[in-house]
Amino acid sequence: MTTPQHWVRPEILELTPYHVPDASGMVKLDAMENPYALPAELREQWAQRLHTLELNRYPDAGGAQLKQRVRQAMNIPDSAGLLLGNGSDEILQIMMLALARDGASVLTPEPGFAMFAMIARTTGLTYRGVPLDADFQLDVPAMLAAIARHAPALVLIAQPNNPTGNAFDAEGLRAVVEAAPGLVVIDEAYYPFSAGNCLDWLAEYDNLLIMRTVSKLGLAGLRLGLLMGSKPWIEALEPLRLPYNINSLTQASAGFALEHYDAFMQQAAAIVSQRDVLATGLASLPGVTVFPSEANFVLLRVSAGQADALAAGLRDQNVLVKNVSAAHPSLHDCLRITVGTEQENRILLEVLGRLVTDA
Ligand SMILES: *Cc1c(COP(=O)(O)O)cnc(C)c1O
Repeated sequence: MTTPQHWVRPEILELTPYHVPDASGMVKLDAMENPYALPAELREQWAQRLHTLELNRYPDAGGAQLKQRVRQAMNIPDSAGLLLGNGSDEILQIMMLALARDGASVLTPEPGFAMFAMIARTTGLTYRGVPLDADFQLDVPAMLAAIARHAPALVLIAQPNNPTGNAFDAEGLRAVVEAAPGLVVIDEAYYPFSAGNCLDWLAEYDNLLIMRTVSKLGLAGLRLGLLMGSKPWIEALEPLRLPYNINSLTQASAGFALEHYDAFMQQAAAIVSQRDVLATGLASLPGVTVFPSEANFVLLRVSAGQADALAAGLRDQNVLVKNVSAAHPSLHDCLRITVGTEQENRILLEVLGRLVTDA
């Protein structure tokens, strides 16, 4: 009995690897990447910084200098603890590994980020999704009832939410944080594109952590996620972080980038103004409904039954978007489109405009 089927955990055998389509030569509007390159002058300085790295040495295990840069750039109070992860995906894994006692569960609104369910499964937590309401807002009574019933070890909420793009009303979000008996994590992956954030709440709640990432800011290739908040919680998770999870190139590159945080926040502001242009253009297409977004993507609903054909038609014209229509019942006929450059958005609108008119 030397086969994996005999030895690997059954819930792992059921999984298929996360699939990322080949995108070479495509207008890539499927993965919420920042479409802008680093300005040429900064690229040059960054390359010089990397020159001095000693790749024969292990990285700084604690990432002390990078943490200092993160704190300065994002105004994280000294009273908050900070943990670095190889992307927020790794942070999710660390948290769930720590919480996976017998019978422990994670509770999250749905539709939500696919990795929440995926990592809950691989770490052995019971996953429970609570449907959002018809406006994709938190169904607060349903969330409170589920919290009372199941006493989840972890309540996980992306604010703004992916794949719906909207931000939840603060009042309802607070009610959920206050009702949760265990850890609450607000995933602010899209904070650069949103009017508000929950950083101030850290002073009020000792079971609250905020997770961020530099991926959507323009550094998806570096793999750096951040978890901040309640020191006892951060200290309890830290032993699960592998000592060299943030490699030397990432520490140096992210440190450099955060010294130029303003340049990235300016790109984020440009993305926000392009988002409004894109949303207006999409809303003018026949049969298309656009949902409000505070992220760097927009969710739209197309005419019933058309999502697969439109996504395929776009792909045939070298435009890649995310077809989320089968991801959750409330996303029927929905596509998720990342905001690109002005030119990319124009191409998307032209091609999609032709396709919906011919449909
Ligand atoms: C994109 C995204 C992330 C980012 O994950 P990384 O591993 O840091 O790239 C995290 N949370 C949500 C909700 C996202 O949409």
